[in-house]
Amino acid sequence: MKAAIITIGDELLIGQVVDTNSVFIGQQLEAIGCKVIEKIAVSDTFHQIIETFEKYQNKVDLVLITGGLGPTKDDITKKTFAHYFNDELVMNTAVLDHVTQLIANYYNRPLNEMNRLQALVPSKCEVLFNDVGTAPGMLMVKEQTVFVSLPGVPYEMKYLITEKLFPYIKKHFQLDAIVHKTVLTVGIGESMLAEKIALWEDSLQLQNIHLAYLPQFGLVRLRLSKTGDSVEEITQEIDEKIKELQQLIPAFFIGVTNTDTLFDEVVQLLKKSGLTLATAESCTGGSIAQKLTSIEGASAYFKGSAVTYATESKIAVLGVQQQTIETYSVVSEEVAKEMAVGAKKIFQTDLAIATTGNAGPLKGDADAEVGTVCIAFAYEDKVESFTYNFGKPRHKVIQAAVEKTWLLLYQ
Ligand code: ATP
Ligand code: MG
Repeated sequence: MKAAIITIGDELLIGQVVDTNSVFIGQQLEAIGCKVIEKIAVSDTFHQIIETFEKYQNKVDLVLITGGLGPTKDDITKKTFAHYFNDELVMNTAVLDHVTQLIANYYNRPLNEMNRLQALVPSKCEVLFNDVGTAPGMLMVKEQTVFVSLPGVPYEMKYLITEKLFPYIKKHFQLDAIVHKTVLTVGIGESMLAEKIALWEDSLQLQNIHLAYLPQFGLVRLRLSKTGDSVEEITQEIDEKIKELQQLIPAFFIGVTNTDTLFDEVVQLLKKSGLTLATAESCTGGSIAQKLTSIEGASAYFKGSAVTYATESKIAVLGVQQQTIETYSVVSEEVAKEMAVGAKKIFQTDLAIATTGNAGPLKGDADAEVGTVCIAFAYEDKVESFTYNFGKPRHKVIQAAVEKTWLLLYQ
């Protein structure tokens, strides 16, 4: 089954609104084994929209359209949609009742003419009733292609896709079974990895297993996918290939993962380990702590952070020795180590992480080159430290330091 996604709205083309709808739709369709072959953003212009509909007519099984369903003059998707199917707009009483109720509940007033327009739908369409908003979804079939028009508001679009459209798709289309598995590899770059596993990759092709490289800072994920008749058979095939991969790159192979980022992986490890954690952050300014606390339930392992940006704060709060700073510079592994030990003591945790560096753009008081970051870990009575240079610009150095921390924690 093939699909195309059309997002409609001038605001998408001038960069006023970021098109997140097609990202969601792509992920959802992929998950049920429907292949998205193209996506396109189109202006609120009659001819442009018609041209795009024609482009996908009989080329795909499903065209998913979002946006432009509002009652204002700039929203013309509905009129254009009806025109494309040689149909006219008629009042749908069920939708009208729903809109009346919504407006009464929200604004405590009767419908105005604009609101009434929301209840117009093409006479021959199948209405996807929008329980969470005013604009209904509309489904029409022309020859080989099903066209579905949905509101642009993301949560309404999401609701209609999962609650209304998917039941329709499952009933009307014969969908293949699909299995995805993602392998996590750490400590080897994408190109080196590709070289090492080239023959194995060729063998995947023979079995129609699709391989995607998903590189991130310090790691590469390999996603294997295959469609077919039986989930069990595909799973077995993919599992065998994963076993072969493990034998091929034992040093870098971490395992099959269900999480999206290394950070998610670290959080799972922390939860499992029962260890408690604190941070002492200078150049990362609390970014590590911020990320950790963005996860619900973080209080189980994360105890606190000291953001000690100024040299005197490192001394006053964390007990870093003046002598150490003078001897080694404030951006040094020695200082990072003392920061980590200080944080571990203050927050009484099993583990503490410290960062000190120069994110630039200016060289500053410390002698360290721009981009230099020292990261230290205090654990039990041991302290380990590392120095990196993440280059520039400033935000990249900070981000790289945070990502490197997850990698070090993970390893
Ligand atoms: P409504 O019935 O609420 O007017 P609509 O179908 O007319 O909805 P639009 O007017 O095109 O939808 O968009 C409504 C809002 O939804 C936009 O202001 C924008 O914030 C958001 N939106 C529209 N399209 C997208 C998209 N592709 N990705 C993310 N957000 C979008
Ligand atoms: Mg609009």
